[in-house]
Amino acid sequence: MEFRPSDDHLAFQRTVREFALAEVAPHVAEWDRAGSLPVGIVHAMGELGLFGLPFPERWGGSGGDFLSLCLAIEEIGRVDQSVGVTLSAGVGLGATPIFRYGNDEQRSRWLPDLVSGRALAAFGLTEPDGGSDAGATRTRATPTDDGWVLNGAKAFITNSGTPITSVVTVTARTPDGQISSFLVPSKTPGFTVAPAPHKLGWHASDTHDLSFEDCVVEHRSLLGEAGHGYRNFLSILDDGRVALAALALGCAQACLDHSVAYAKERQAFGGPIGRFQAIAFALADLSVAVENARNLTYKAAWLKDSGQPFGPLAAMAKLYSTEAAVSATRVATQVFGGSGFMEDSPVARLYRDAKILEIGEGTSEIQRLVIARGLGLPVG
Ligand SMILES: Cc1cc2nc3c(=O)[nH]c(=O)nc-3n(C[C@H](O)[C@H](O)[C@H](O)COP(=O)(O)OP(=O)(O)OC[C@H]3O[C@@H](n4cnc5c(N)ncnc54)[C@H](O)[C@@H]3O)c2cc1C
Repeated sequence: MEFRPSDDHLAFQRTVREFALAEVAPHVAEWDRAGSLPVGIVHAMGELGLFGLPFPERWGGSGGDFLSLCLAIEEIGRVDQSVGVTLSAGVGLGATPIFRYGNDEQRSRWLPDLVSGRALAAFGLTEPDGGSDAGATRTRATPTDDGWVLNGAKAFITNSGTPITSVVTVTARTPDGQISSFLVPSKTPGFTVAPAPHKLGWHASDTHDLSFEDCVVEHRSLLGEAGHGYRNFLSILDDGRVALAALALGCAQACLDHSVAYAKERQAFGGPIGRFQAIAFALADLSVAVENARNLTYKAAWLKDSGQPFGPLAAMAKLYSTEAAVSATRVATQVFGGSGFMEDSPVARLYRDAKILEIGEGTSEIQRLVIARGLGLPVG
């Protein structure tokens, strides 16, 4: 069995690491305080080809594989989670539904700017009344002579209100009770983006609640087959789980990097704190968790790239890596002692950023549900 990134993958990973250290790392604290990212960093990731990684050249992409996207998300996330999720959501939730379910007219209209990082798109599934129960969509789409009229609300939608957000895909229930997806261009009358909420972490990532009041979109805004919105989104979520696992892997790896360096340098009782077994063993355990997270994440990506079923492994990778990341931030902050509680330490922001990983793209409970059902258990 050969299951490892190729030399090309590793070279690409080094390129993204150098980019992240040069273009992201110096600005992370400032962007976190500002609560937003400059559009320039999105453009720069686009110029590096990161937004086009999994798409064919016909649509401006590089025709790369999903593992390459995961490596890029891991490396960016190792330096900053907010920039990492902007990339992950931009590709997975923004461009991918249009590429996978759109017709050529929709692809030509939206993909060139999304794939090049000149624009961002978002996907609105979660509603104020529920995210895990995504099939309970209450947003309504009513057909008229001019197109569709949307009424309803979406909650916590990533990349939905940036200055370069061009379009948001939303799920809505049609009069026959089925769920379909609709492309809503930004600034469509009746489509309102609420002010950004104050979040625990991912400060620089763009998040907004959205509302639709008699919002009219054209007939050609229906994305994919009518009635297939929910089914299509579940498939998008499988990819998203692997991508979020990669983001969590970057977080856990960053915790390990920072903690090992600090444990070698910080002195207590006449020597480095890394000589205390309590510290050294915690970091040994953390390195095992990082390795496990990497293996699960890369294997899920490899299964997808080789055309094999990867849904159950995507849920395992998401569950394991995100819980490992949360635990890693706790260990890292402990290793840093009081300085780990200070905003200028490298681990305090990771501590705040990690929690959402266990919630977004399906909570840990939902991943356990998916995995348990895969075992044939009649769990509800
Ligand atoms: C920063 C941020 C960005 C986000 N970005 C997006 C986005 O771009 N697009 C989008 O559509 N959504 C997005 N979300 C929403 C996110 O996916 C949901 O918050 C998540 O799916 C959970 O849904 P909920 O918040 O409604 O929690 P609920 O579904 O209300 O869950 C509450 C609790 O109940 C548990 N629970 C629910 N059902 C079950 C069950 N059957 N069995 C066991 N436990 C259960 C959950 O695990 C959780 O612990 C984002 C959220 C945040 C915070």
